[in-house]
Amino acid sequence: MADCIFCKIGNHEIPSNVVYEDEKLICFHDLDPQAPVHVLVIPKKHIESLDDVKDEDGQLMGHIMVTIKVIAEKLGLENGYRVVSNNGEDAFQTVKHLHFHILGKRKMTWPPG
Ligand code: 5GP
Ligand code: ZN
Repeated sequence: MADCIFCKIGNHEIPSNVVYEDEKLICFHDLDPQAPVHVLVIPKKHIESLDDVKDEDGQLMGHIMVTIKVIAEKLGLENGYRVVSNNGEDAFQTVKHLHFHILGKRKMTWPPG
């Protein structure tokens, strides 16, 4: 999508600190980290939120889930980590391109704010 910041990161129009990349997804450090490790995993395909995931995206979604584990291992998150996806207004989704936050290297609290 032309004016989507995460699409631009996905196709390297905008630079980011890349942790992992393959043909379907990219993982990069968050600009405003909320934990000692805070990265974002996004599909390169523009999908606005989980509400917009279609049946045909099932393989892509599975690939993201499987790769999160690989990324967590690469980042040394053997003590645990949190995966968050904010969807829509109530969840305060600020970038309208599906993304999964991976947060780690500190104790998390529950419930989240
Ligand atoms: P949301 O609030 O939509 O769940 O998360 C969006 C995240 O994207 C925020 O944590 C924000 O810091 C991050 N972010 C927004 N713009 C950029 C950017 O241009 N580069 C990077 N690396 N992160 C960004
Ligand atoms: Zn996009």
